Amino acid sequence: MRYVDEFRDPAAAAALLKELRRVRLPEPVTFMEVCGSHTMAISRFGLRGSLPEGMRLVSGPGCPVCVTPVRSVDHALALAALPGVTITTFGDLLRVPGSTSSLERARAEGADIRVVYSTLDALALARREPARKVVFLGVGFETTAPTVAAALLEARAESLENFFVLSDHKLMPPPMRALVEAPDVRVRGFLCPGHVSTIIGSEAYRFLAAEFGACCVVAGFEPLDILRALLLLARQVAEDRADVENAYGRAVTPQGNRAAQAVMARAFEPADGAWRGFGVIPASGLAIRAELAAHDASRAFLVEVGAGRDHPACRCPEVLRGVVAPPECPLFARGCTPSEPKGACMVSSEGTCAAYYRYERLHPGATRTASRPAGGGPPSPEAGS
Ligand code: SF4
Repeated sequence: MRYVDEFRDPAAAAALLKELRRVRLPEPVTFMEVCGSHTMAISRFGLRGSLPEGMRLVSGPGCPVCVTPVRSVDHALALAALPGVTITTFGDLLRVPGSTSSLERARAEGADIRVVYSTLDALALARREPARKVVFLGVGFETTAPTVAAALLEARAESLENFFVLSDHKLMPPPMRALVEAPDVRVRGFLCPGHVSTIIGSEAYRFLAAEFGACCVVAGFEPLDILRALLLLARQVAEDRADVENAYGRAVTPQGNRAAQAVMARAFEPADGAWRGFGVIPASGLAIRAELAAHDASRAFLVEVGAGRDHPACRCPEVLRGVVAPPECPLFARGCTPSEPKGACMVSSEGTCAAYYRYERLHPGATRTASRPAGGGPPSPEAGS
């Protein structure tokens, strides 16, 4: 398949791995991927275990559903219980446990909760059913925020009074700052998120290199993209420099997508954001601007929401900070599975625990040796090396 196969070529992957193994690292290093799609690709293609001795790759807060705190799910559940309210959401959020229930369970019990594939579907629903108050659950990073912003602006332009957004959007650079500042997280560099970077641009990570000496490389999502980015990261370490490099030039520019940034800025303003695993990070969220308050579900519907309570044994907060790997959670593959998730990281298709469960649980050795991605894709990059 054009534009895919050329980024999965086993011989090219083997050559990259060989180059990676030739890099002389002065000491063991840990890199972190901060994108759920990277996590899935890394697990699927067995890249984590293919890395040379002394190089470790851990997952960070890259899954938007996973970093959404339990209180936000509780807030959505409280709105769903109001008469006349229809909740619209992407499917990933449905099964994320709240303190006492989930959107999926609330729907089974009669709440009007509908899965949509885009914010524009929610907008269309509001037009079709003017008697319902349609609330879209705005969860996601800079990648999804522009389309939600566009929907808000459209609703205002149309005076669509029954369309609302509950904004829990998050910005990616602030938690990366929190990670390099945290004493218990030892990350030498980041595999920077491809999708988010298409919007914010690669220069958005400059502060990490300049202020904290963290190596940064923006990566695409195919095995060769990721291996190339890891090679660039390793070379930065070997050469004792910290820089921002872009290994995803076919989609990411230094300054990002200015039009998307402008739409976002018209609808949202930075606000403190609450993250699972991090607590409140200053200016890491997006609040709906006062001019659009009529469409802000957090202002339009006054509901009581408690502090939120995660499953006491769930280690998602540490998983999201790269401090523990999913198998270190006592519930992993025992009490917590994709069909019976106890935490958000097992629910989402981009969750770290889900990725480990699906691809690395039964074949932990496969992460060190040749393997084929599930579903019979091309051989892993290890083959033929
Ligand atoms: Fe939470 Fe389940 Fe992951 Fe454990 S395995 S950290 S309970 S999602």
